[in-house]
Amino acid sequence: SLETYFGNSKSSYLEINGVNTPKQLIGNALKKRVQNIDHDTCEPGDEDTFFVADLGEVYRQHMRWKKNLPRVKPFYAVKCNPDPQVIRLLAELGTGFDCASKTEIEQVLKSGVEPHRIIYAQPCKTNSYVRYAATQGVKQMTFDNTDELYKIKKLFPGAELFLRISTDDSSSLCRLSLKFGAAMDTTNELLALANELELNVVGVSFHVGSGASDPMAFIRAVQDARAVFNQAENYGYSFHTLDVGGGFSSDTFDAMAAVLSSALDEYFPSHINIIGEPGRYYVASAFTLACHVIARRTIQNTQRGEDSYMLYMNDGLYGNFSSIMFDHQNPVAQVLRRGDRFYYDTIAAQASRDGTEYSIWGPTCDGIDRIAESIRFDHSLDMGDWLYFEEMGAYTKCSATRFNGFSDSHDVIYVSSEPGAKALLGMNLLAPLI
Ligand code: PLP
Repeated sequence: SLETYFGNSKSSYLEINGVNTPKQLIGNALKKRVQNIDHDTCEPGDEDTFFVADLGEVYRQHMRWKKNLPRVKPFYAVKCNPDPQVIRLLAELGTGFDCASKTEIEQVLKSGVEPHRIIYAQPCKTNSYVRYAATQGVKQMTFDNTDELYKIKKLFPGAELFLRISTDDSSSLCRLSLKFGAAMDTTNELLALANELELNVVGVSFHVGSGASDPMAFIRAVQDARAVFNQAENYGYSFHTLDVGGGFSSDTFDAMAAVLSSALDEYFPSHINIIGEPGRYYVASAFTLACHVIARRTIQNTQRGEDSYMLYMNDGLYGNFSSIMFDHQNPVAQVLRRGDRFYYDTIAAQASRDGTEYSIWGPTCDGIDRIAESIRFDHSLDMGDWLYFEEMGAYTKCSATRFNGFSDSHDVIYVSSEPGAKALLGMNLLAPLI
């Protein structure tokens, strides 16, 4: 039996009883939501793009983390997807949080997380945010240059500091060391200054780049961190924590974790705390996005004897597909509904080699706003149809804009394919709130 709770609220929760695979659960939620829209009479926005989030997937990723990286306490990188239910679930699961701004710190504190479970992991911070962190008792923060040390001395001399070192991030999707991280030939000077300023440096942090693919990057970074731990002893520091940052993706996680674990055991004795800042790993696969085809343009090609089509959707590069631009992703369209029929998770939902050719575009006026240059489907698609995209949880809605007046905040329907996640969140309790 299917119980649904939909309303005008920004988020809704779908409770499905009976045995369901995660795929079925997500598919049912997508279908139910689209079926609830009267496309002929609906209000503007009712047919907007929406997400289905399987919090059970976030839960499973956490269990997988604990199994594969038992020494490393995850501090979820909020920037990746500050979804309130994800934060709630992770708070219940006992993770820490990596925050990059005052707003993120505030959001996490409001979720009931204690300040010591937060690291303000931004090496170049805003003055007023540092003062805010000080008033809230959020002591852990990173630095990578001398100017930042003077800033912290002035604004928050009691902070617990992590020296962020530069890494070889050349194998990653999003390189971060171009912008942050102290070069290894500057760490000595930084430690000397921190010592002179009587600042409390407690450890080292690094980030091998978001979407990293070379496990060697972790080995080299762990070795460099060890060298800085040793250097610090010369200044009377006794570092107690290493922060191994992010760089984890679901498909390469097990191999990366194995390499990282053995490097940690080789270079860091068991009394050293290890923390990490995964973002993408936790949320990428948990969110599926559904988009409505708002318009179609026929491109006649008399030479080839077959027409192709441009499909325009109600979401694009300036919206939840910002990940194409900022995160170098290639989201793959699948057919959710064609006419009155639903195709989710069937062969017919998928692109095919031989079918009709489409290009897929977002709703703004800009020519850059393109989701797919060429994709083929066996069946003909038209305006009014729905497409869906999997793996849309990381760096998507958090970097959406309001360009051309389109909304930057879309409904999320939460489901849970894990009883454990549901029990922690008391998700049944959400229903009356809607
Ligand atoms: N920590 C810091 C300081 C970051 O800048 C980022 C991403 O930019 C993360 C963690 C999250 O890393 P990932 O995207 O690899 O999960």
